[in-house]
Amino acid sequence: MTDPRPDALRPVRALQVAQERDWTLTVLDIDAAYKRYLAEGELWLPFCASCSRFLPAWISRCADHWDAGMEMAQVVGEFRLWSWVEYLRSYPLPVAVEAPYIVAAVDIEKGPRVHGFVLGPAAEIEGRGRGVPMLLDRERTKSLGTPVFKFASE
Ligand SMILES: [Zn+2]
Repeated sequence: MTDPRPDALRPVRALQVAQERDWTLTVLDIDAAYKRYLAEGELWLPFCASCSRFLPAWISRCADHWDAGMEMAQVVGEFRLWSWVEYLRSYPLPVAVEAPYIVAAVDIEKGPRVHGFVLGPAAEIEGRGRGVPMLLDRERTKSLGTPVFKFASE
């Protein structure tokens, strides 16, 4: 079936442009690497060597250093809770998680805010303030293939 949208070929063209310009990373490369590392229980994101900053997994160029070399790097530094929400009803997810579950927004020290699960009763997260230190739960990240966080104090 042909995609009728006029821009349907844009991602293919963007990939061609990236390859012609010999850019070090493409969004497709990043997505594949991001998922591969999650399956190993690690969080890796695109990293700008020029400003030592991590970028979201869907960004392949640093906006401030367009020509800087980009590479995938394992996220280091502190993770801190920004906010969270508890889901009480299940809806189709690409991962095996049953409601109730919590999705948290977590700030990484030198990079973007990322989202991940916090698996456990909501009572464990209630009352915790913004900025509470968190860690990547490597075991559960590995088993689910998506970021799972836990409290650093656990
Ligand atoms: Zn940069």
